[in-house]
Amino acid sequence: MAGPTSSVHLSLGEVHALATRCLVANGCDADNARAVADTIAAAERDICLSHGLFRLPGYVASLRSGKVDGRARPQVDDLAPGVVRVDGKGGFAPLALQIGREPLMGKARSQGIAALALNDTHHFAALWPEVEALAEQGLCAFAFTAAFPYVVAAGGRRPIYGTNPMAFAWPRPGRDPLVFDQASSALARGEIMIAAREGHDVPPGTGIDAEGRETTDPNAILDGGAQLPFGGYKGASIALMIELLVGALIGDKFSFEALAADNGDGGPPKGGELMLAIDPARFGDAAGFAAHAELLFGQITAEEGVRLPADRRRRNRKATATAGVTVDATLHAKVLELAGG
Ligand code: NDP
Repeated sequence: MAGPTSSVHLSLGEVHALATRCLVANGCDADNARAVADTIAAAERDICLSHGLFRLPGYVASLRSGKVDGRARPQVDDLAPGVVRVDGKGGFAPLALQIGREPLMGKARSQGIAALALNDTHHFAALWPEVEALAEQGLCAFAFTAAFPYVVAAGGRRPIYGTNPMAFAWPRPGRDPLVFDQASSALARGEIMIAAREGHDVPPGTGIDAEGRETTDPNAILDGGAQLPFGGYKGASIALMIELLVGALIGDKFSFEALAADNGDGGPPKGGELMLAIDPARFGDAAGFAAHAELLFGQITAEEGVRLPADRRRRNRKATATAGVTVDATLHAKVLELAGG
């Protein structure tokens, strides 16, 4: 129940059950609902709130508008010894990713390196779940996806690139993998939306307004403005690379093409994702790579105040396993309403 503090306490099981119920009530079959709920619950568990329950209204909007097929049956195609494709058949990405994981891992183990091209799908989540899952199985992994055009090219005023995240995971036998997952915009769009909802500014360098002036007002960025890439032209080049990898390379949509094909329902863009998986055991230091990497990690973290990427999420994961999570009461009420009460 929503209390006067405007937040609601839920266990992780309750988050998963609520997300599943909401998705099924709006047209998902059991497999698709479970797969999407897995990613939503994982985001809440690790306190990555911009990809947790916050995304459910967008998922539901796309089910209701008919843009996304909540009953899609992804199809696996073997394209080459090192390349597998999963055709998402117009569904959400999580089920297609889960179906593609085994064939990708099998190819990486036999070839040393392999790629998964995910086509005709709708990605509305963080990328770390898919790379972390591969690194937990001993593989090094990369993932890339595009979005809608929100980010300007270096020196530009017109949004052309998506917020285009990329993620990387490194296996650490006997320990949690090293993972980083970052947008190529200065700030993830979900964070700007949350700032607008909560009525606070975003950091300088996040975006420009409709006149091209830098602003810290989230509403000015969202309403006719644009986002800036991280690190100026260097982040812009990474966004450009990702457009090419998930658009031209795998035969799917650039961010601006996704916008042109969209019905404006507020849900995820239609598009693709590229994953790469590498088996370190098939390279030159099969026996020593893991210990060698630990040497580097030890040197990095020996300095006070320095942490490895994913440490924050892991700390959160430990805490929420027993304590559960806190959900914004307005969001919770909205999700309940979408689930039919
Ligand atoms: P952040 O800037 O919050 O974090 C980026 C990465 O840096 C994380 O791996 C984080 O690890 C790590 N990190 C942060 N601070 C430190 C530090 N002090 N030392 C070491 N590592 C650190 O993420 P973004 O805002 O760029 O992206 C947020 C999410 O949005 C991503 O998960 C991305 O996949 C998603 N996204 C999805 C899109 C889609 O279309 N599907 C589009 C754009 C973004 P940690 O988590 O431990 O803090």
